[in-house]
Amino acid sequence: MAVTVVGSVAFDSLETPFGKRERVLGGAATHFALAASFFADVNVVGVVGDDFGEDELAVYAARSVNIDDLERVPGAKSFHWSGRYAEDMTVAHTLNTQLNVFADFDPELSPHARSASTLFLANIQPELQLRVREQCRDARVVGVDSMNFWIESARDALIRTMGEVDVVALNDAEVRMLTGEPNLARAARRLRELGPRVALVKQGPYGACMFTAEGYFSIPAYPLETVVDPTGAGDSFAGGFFGYLDSLDDPNPAENALRAAAVYGSVLASFVVEDFGSERLQRLTEDEIAGRFDEFRQMMVFEEPVAARLRSSTSA
Ligand code: AMP
Repeated sequence: MAVTVVGSVAFDSLETPFGKRERVLGGAATHFALAASFFADVNVVGVVGDDFGEDELAVYAARSVNIDDLERVPGAKSFHWSGRYAEDMTVAHTLNTQLNVFADFDPELSPHARSASTLFLANIQPELQLRVREQCRDARVVGVDSMNFWIESARDALIRTMGEVDVVALNDAEVRMLTGEPNLARAARRLRELGPRVALVKQGPYGACMFTAEGYFSIPAYPLETVVDPTGAGDSFAGGFFGYLDSLDDPNPAENALRAAAVYGSVLASFVVEDFGSERLQRLTEDEIAGRFDEFRQMMVFEEPVAARLRSSTSA
């Protein structure tokens, strides 16, 4: 039982209305791994340069995340992403992307990483996602994320990757872009017709929704009064979702398990945005997660104290 994630391990330079940070530890695989590590054993498959030092490695060690499959390329630089968020913080504006070591990354997974029960293909080149998918034949639950860049530049490969996974986790704009369908319910149906049985649609500050064969589930975002930096929210959502599913030891998670997983996704995402980069995840505790999960339970219940007496247009 373990989760393997392949994706970017990065230095991020971030600018939000709350300030700036230079070269903080980030990357989709980092946010995912830290979030999932609260539920399951996690293996990170990625690549870094020799600018990646002891401080960065210590962050994974503190959460017992296995980085044996994190390749280190001597004399090279790690992936570096710079992004800025405007006042409403709903969209990340990429200022600069330096792929560096990622340009030639083509991992051969260790037997341990290959044997994971859950696989998450975080946002990277779709051909690479597919090659990693092919190496993890035993994974019982496989998820994929992507972004506008790949939808535009590698659409066919991305659609092939989607045919090999169980869960697609994209944000609403990406779902519409990929399917060419402006209506979200129809777009999610098209997405599921590509192969995945679950379409998990992230909606930023509005939460997320999930489309399955059994129906539709809407997950709120936690009503935070201050969002410091949204970077990593999507990946932490996926980390909570897949980490929880992996902990259930059920090869075919039922609808109620998928729903609880989605709530854990929203819980983890709600924490990461409280501080820059992965700083909040680094000091998160199990009690905080359990407490916020209970708050979600309260937020998502409603009762009808008295049945409404619906009136027809002819009632007096
Ligand atoms: P998100 O969860 O969508 O906010 O993802 C944020 C993370 O994605 C950041 O930590 C970045 O390092 C990483 N990232 C940004 N652009 C790319 C890209 N083109 N490929 C892979 N990872 C990226």
